[in-house]
Formats: sequence, structure tokens, C-alpha cells
Amino acid sequence: MKTRLRCPAFAFACVSAAVFWSTSVPVAIAQWSDGPVIERTIDAHLDFLASDALGGRETGTRYGDITARYIAACLQASGLEPAGADGTYLQPYDLSSSRLMQEACELSAAVAVDSLAFTAGTDYALRGYGRGGFSLAAGATFVGYGRRDGEAGIDDYAGVSVEGRLVVALDGSPSGPSGTLSWRSRREAAQALGAAGLLVIIDPESRSSTRSFNYLTQMMGNQSLELWADEEPGFPFVAMTSEAARRLLGAGGVDLDTEWRVRRGGQVKPAKNLREVRVRLTAPVSSERLVAQNVAAMIRGSDPLLADEVVVMSAHMDHIGTTESGVINNGADDNASGTTTLLTVAEVLASGPAPRRSVLLLAVSGEEKGLLGSEHWVSQPTVPLERIIGNINIDMVGRNAPHVIGATPSPTHADYNTLVTRAVELAPEVGLTVEWVVGAEGVRRRVDQYYQRSDHANFARVGIPVVFFFSGEHEDYHQPTDTADKIDRGKLGRMVRFIANLVTAVANDDQRPSKIEP
Ligand SMILES: [Zn+2]
Repeated sequence: MKTRLRCPAFAFACVSAAVFWSTSVPVAIAQWSDGPVIERTIDAHLDFLASDALGGRETGTRYGDITARYIAACLQASGLEPAGADGTYLQPYDLSSSRLMQEACELSAAVAVDSLAFTAGTDYALRGYGRGGFSLAAGATFVGYGRRDGEAGIDDYAGVSVEGRLVVALDGSPSGPSGTLSWRSRREAAQALGAAGLLVIIDPESRSSTRSFNYLTQMMGNQSLELWADEEPGFPFVAMTSEAARRLLGAGGVDLDTEWRVRRGGQVKPAKNLREVRVRLTAPVSSERLVAQNVAAMIRGSDPLLADEVVVMSAHMDHIGTTESGVINNGADDNASGTTTLLTVAEVLASGPAPRRSVLLLAVSGEEKGLLGSEHWVSQPTVPLERIIGNINIDMVGRNAPHVIGATPSPTHADYNTLVTRAVELAPEVGLTVEWVVGAEGVRRRVDQYYQRSDHANFARVGIPVVFFFSGEHEDYHQPTDTADKIDRGKLGRMVRFIANLVTAVANDDQRPSKIEP
């Protein structure tokens, strides 16, 4: 035991242990928690992770890679075992980074000798192009709202074949937003009938239809990052404004205004092929394969009966990077605060006796891109999922009320469990209180609202009990002003002790974490 103790203040450590000893928290933590070591360690990690040198730690960039290697080096230096891929601390995973080349998109309709051209981002927007893009040259068929509702005896496709053709449908429904078919179900209906693509006409009288169009046009040219997967070519999906569609349908002998009027009134009319119209669509995408990293390290459990069971502590290391104009988003609270806490907890736990169960420290990337790193880890775990008994995830823990930490799932949440009750018990020991509503003035929210918004969600999705700690939003959320000077380092010190105590308690408890009926 002694060998692992660092400074000669052992006698001192025993005294303070009395203060911090809870059912299963060993002496070593007390030693760490009093000396300046924790504060110094917090300063070192936080000031580096949130520095301009890391350029905002965006996944898929060199900065993201440097961040991962820094974390791996720290965990190695703390004496933890590698628990990434192939005996390393790192778990590389592939991403596809793709961007629709909006400037090169073409949508036109040839009618006899004439041709109509439409402008991407103004007349139409696209989605579902994946990293392969899509192209189409086909005749077009107008199917009204495109409903196929056997119960109601409605089939807007009746009497025509749309095999290999572009299906043109009105957005919305006769009975207004409530009866609206989702774009997804429309796409599935058209695809099931062998159509070559789907074009939905935006309803100028519906705010939700217009809002969806505006959102698509905003997103269309953005870089998208997804986990690399072998994918089918995208099914062409076009959303077109009513003004542009009036020209397209008009060229094919269909009067759109009449169609809106009679079909909004609930009249069911037969589908119509647009006479002599041939639609051409080209939507090229530039895409590249990127490699990102998760980092994983283990403290092996000491109890032969329980060492196979693993408690996962996680935090995302990435942030949103540097803007095109060179402004760095340092992401001090989001989530350099959580990563710093994870690295310092690793140091604390490694300096004490090993708990009965094993502890996995997992720093994931890709969170800001859609929880990609944790999605990959859970789908390709470096420790079998059946050995994972619980996940303790932290994100943005360095701001707002100094002695309060938000948590979810709350007692009213379906996934409420004993990890949460254990946390509520232990928090006061280090000067923290667990609360269900957090956030700066004006952005105070129930933490349950964030249950799907950080990496624990991927663990909860596969039935693993989770607890998520979060201090709430503030004015610097996802702003370049989220800088290290604004972090409450005293609070981070409390978080380190709190999480170290909680992880150790869960790893030593006789019972595994379990759900509690809300
Ligand atoms: Zn975050």
C-alpha cells in the first residue's frame, strides 16, 4: 500500500481521512483531497486543454488528435492500464466528412424543346445525399399529398406507376399539421413503389412546412461528420418552394394553385404524370475519410469475484474548433472542465488501493458532432458491454452555482437508478448538492432535458444504468468566450473529490447499480 503513496504526509493523511472516510472511500483520496496537488493538477490540465494551442479540439482535425494523445499520455503517466484497441490507450474510429457541393448542384426540367432551371438553396433544398451524393434523370408524376392509408381508403398513388419516376407531392395534409405525413414516411412510400426520387412542395400557408425548408437550406452546404459505414446510394429527396413548383407543374400541364385549393379541401383526385417533363438532378458531394480517437484506460479491480465488473467514468474531450475566420472556441467548460476532472480523478484513484470492481476511464471524441465517439465505443466496446455495470458521465461541470451539481435521471425519470441516489448521498461530503434544475439566470432547465444530449445516452440506450452530471448552460455556451479564466476551479476540485468518491463507492458496493421505479 505504501509504495503507491507519494508524499511523506501519510500521518497527516490518516487524520484527514476521518473527515472524508465514507463507507468505501480509501485513505489515499483524503491525502490527495487536502494537499494542493489536486488544484495544481486541475490547473495544468485545464489551462492546456482550453488553450489556443489546441484550437478548440475539433474532432477529425489535427487538434483533435493531439488532444487524444495528450489524454492517453496522462493516463499512462498516472499508471493506468491501456484499455483502448490493440493493447493501446487509443481507440481509433473512422468518420466520413462530407459536404454537398451546393454550387455544383443542378436541377432542371426539360419540356419538349424548353428547359426550366432551378437554383439550389433558393428554389429547392436537398437531403439524404450521404457521402455519395445522388443524380437522377426521370419523368415526374404528381400524387397530391402522396398518402397511402388503407384504413381511410385513401391511395393517392392509385392508377399510376411511379416505377423509375420522380414522385412530386404536396407537403402538409388536408387536415392540417396534425395529419401531416412525415417526410420520412413519404420517402419510404415512394421508395417502396420503386420511384427514382421524391420532390415535396412546401406549403406556403404552413409555418412548419416553411420552417423545415429554411432549416434544410441552412444545413445543406454544411460539412457533416458521421461514423464511417458502408452506405447505400442516397435516395434523391428534394424540397421545393411553391413558386418554383408552380413553374415545374405548369410545364407538365398541372395547375398548382388549383391543386392546393381542391386538395386542401379534402378532395381526393387521381395522380397525374407531368406531360413531357423530364427532370434532371445532379447533387455532387465532396467527402473524405477521417480518423478520430477515443481514449480508454483501466484500473483493474482487486476482488477476484467482482474485478470482471466495470464502472465507466466518461467525458467528451472534443469541442467545436476554430471558425473559418480563425476564431478559436476554447471550450473551457464544454468540456475541458469534464476532461480535466476525468484526468485528475484517474490520478487520485491510481494513487489509492484498487477498488473491488474495475474502473474504466473513457474520454470520447465526436460528442459535438452527434455523440459519435461514444456511439462507436458502445457499438465496438473495448470491454465487453455485459461487464459494464454503470456509466458516470460528466459534461460542463465548471460553472454556475459553486456548490451545486445538476444530475439526470431525476427521481421522476424512467431511468432513475441507484447511481443517482448514491451520488445524492455522497455529494454533501465534499460540499456539493445534487439538484435537478440548473443553469444561469435565463437558461435554467431541468437536467432531464439533457438526458439525450451527452455521451451517457449511448450507454442508456443499451440498458446500462447511467448518471449524468452537468452544471447547466450559461452565456458562453458554444461561444468563443467559453474560456479558462471563467472556470470555477474550486468547484472542479469539489467535482474531482465527488466523482472519485462516487466511482470508488460504486466499485466497492456489494450491490450493482439498479433501476428504481420512478
Ligand atoms: Zn459538451
